[in-house]
Amino acid sequence: MQFHLNGFQPGDPTIAPAIDESQTASPAGSVDVLIIGSGPAGLTLAAQLSAFAGISTRLVEAKPGPMEKGQADGVSCRSMEMFEAFGFAHTVMREAYWVNETTFWKTDPEAADSIIRTGRIQDVEDGLSEMPHVILNQARVHDMYLDVMQRSAHRLTPDYDRRLDRLEVDDKSPYPVTATISHQPQGSDATEEVIQARYVVGCDGARSAVRAAMGLELKGDSANKAWGVMDVLVVTDFPDIRQKTLVQAAGSGALLIIPREGGYMARVYVELETLGEGERARNRNITLEQLIAAAQRIFHPYSFEVKDTIWWSVYEIGQRLTDRFDNAGPAPHGPPPTVFIAGDACHTHSPKAGQGMNVSMGDSFNLGWKLAAVLQGRAAPDLLRSYSGERAAVARQLIAFDQEWTQVLAAQSRGTGDSSKFQEYFVEHGRYTAGVSVQYDMSALTGPTDHQHLAGGFDIGMRFHSAPVIRLADAKPMHLGHVVRADGRWRLFLFADQAHPAAADSRLAHMCHYLHDDPASPLHVHGRADEDIDDVIDVRGILQRDFRALNLGDLPPLLRPDKGRFGLIDSEKAFCADIKNNADIFDMRGVDRRNGCAVIVRPDQYVAHVLPLDDFAALTAFFCSILLRQDG
Ligand code: FAD
Repeated sequence: MQFHLNGFQPGDPTIAPAIDESQTASPAGSVDVLIIGSGPAGLTLAAQLSAFAGISTRLVEAKPGPMEKGQADGVSCRSMEMFEAFGFAHTVMREAYWVNETTFWKTDPEAADSIIRTGRIQDVEDGLSEMPHVILNQARVHDMYLDVMQRSAHRLTPDYDRRLDRLEVDDKSPYPVTATISHQPQGSDATEEVIQARYVVGCDGARSAVRAAMGLELKGDSANKAWGVMDVLVVTDFPDIRQKTLVQAAGSGALLIIPREGGYMARVYVELETLGEGERARNRNITLEQLIAAAQRIFHPYSFEVKDTIWWSVYEIGQRLTDRFDNAGPAPHGPPPTVFIAGDACHTHSPKAGQGMNVSMGDSFNLGWKLAAVLQGRAAPDLLRSYSGERAAVARQLIAFDQEWTQVLAAQSRGTGDSSKFQEYFVEHGRYTAGVSVQYDMSALTGPTDHQHLAGGFDIGMRFHSAPVIRLADAKPMHLGHVVRADGRWRLFLFADQAHPAAADSRLAHMCHYLHDDPASPLHVHGRADEDIDDVIDVRGILQRDFRALNLGDLPPLLRPDKGRFGLIDSEKAFCADIKNNADIFDMRGVDRRNGCAVIVRPDQYVAHVLPLDDFAALTAFFCSILLRQDG
């Protein structure tokens, strides 16, 4: 990380200097963004918005304090990539269980009262992501977001014991949304608070009050199968207790083991009873003892002795989805949205594919940078319309996947499924469950694919697939994708053509000179006079040559820009292919070596466009279609 740009700052550089909240532009009782609910969706959004000193955010939560245990625990590779942008992926990697393998067990065809292992596969295909698939309790993920918020200039913390009761919208007001919140700490009488907000985001879970206030509902299948889940400390002779494992015992049902962080705990999902039409699992009054007994039947002849139960729950599976995720009027003339929903407020499904927390965080990461861009005056409010369109498509895929996955599992449990097909299905959908298959459709934010051939491995509309590089200035081996921080900035990766960057025919240098010197360059048009050259669009150069064959002085000035109040040179803008370790990013991602290319990456790490290095006009037009002019 970089710091001391504007003078030496003692202490922990990850803690931003605190701002005086009384000096913010919002009048008393009003706020730029009000977030309802501090689950994974709400905390991702709050952490993202807390990065912007000029944006005021409040987060209200009905519960009395932070979560301690239970609920989701699967963290996909894609979410880990996002955590890297927030700066806590390494903490998660140290603490979490890493899912390396998945094993499959079934009733032994030779001995009906026994189970045998029928398969064992690598959980995540090689090269899919630089990040592992891990398991860590949702409560710990919450803690890490709370820490990011606490280190921000706002020192943002959730306001607990506060429940949203009512929401009203008046589009003519500068603070169009009025939220009525009841505040009731334990043992005290309730008081009411009214908050005026420019934007309200309902991250308030499956029974969302915000969704209800928007007149929307979750539609879809009602569930007819009860499942139990327990986090337990257990003594067992089952050999795969530390592997992610699916056991299907004919006659006794199915069970899924998710080994947990810390080396001893396991989460066990157990298939329970078939429910009547519209019946809720909780009405069956299923006890923990019944859950443990069901698990013991499935594990037979292996022992399963529960020593301590940390958390358990019983639920029914259903796949439900709401039609839209915002309150926008019809485009192009209806008012842009002011109220949004994210996460379980929009989509609910079975937890076994481990998608709930991941997709919910993905929703609000998509929304956060858009809200920030609009509130900072960098983009028009119409940008916010793209949130519902992009994320509703992801949610539809999620629901379709979950319906199919549930049916495949059910067929296996009934003994009517083919177990080799089942494993194939699992492998085939590995990319989906890793969270890396999301692809946004072509739009103002996602360019056409005319030049995709220049960088076949950076699919337009998909997340930027990182690869190793060597930083030129200090020969540091690192991942290129890790320069993308959750700071709302766009990235422009300029992959060099074959010419030397100091040569007269270097396309890379020509593009850099245009961006640096031409008043029509998007860096000047969308940046403000008092800002550094990379405050809105952060340009990085990736060179084909070995780092020992180049000097910083060979680079165009844009790739060693002067910044801050002293005009210090930022020497971390240029990277070289990692030839020494046989990991050349140009080969790994199919970048055209002769011509190079420009890869535009959105603030949420998705590839927005791939363009030729000499197409200045297309590059400029792309940014103009999203960002407002700041150059008067
Ligand atoms: P949530 O995590 O549900 O967070 C919503 C937050 O909003 C809550 O903190 C709630 O208190 C708050 N809230 C609600 N209404 C209001 C209001 N009016 N005012 C203020 N605050 C409000 N997923 C798995 O993968 N595996 C599991 O085993 C699993 N078990 C689960 C068990 C339970 C009991 C629940 C509820 C969910 C479970 N999930 C599980 C799902 C997973 O936790 C969710 O998919 C994920 O948490 C969704 O995140 P979210 O932020 O959208 O919503």
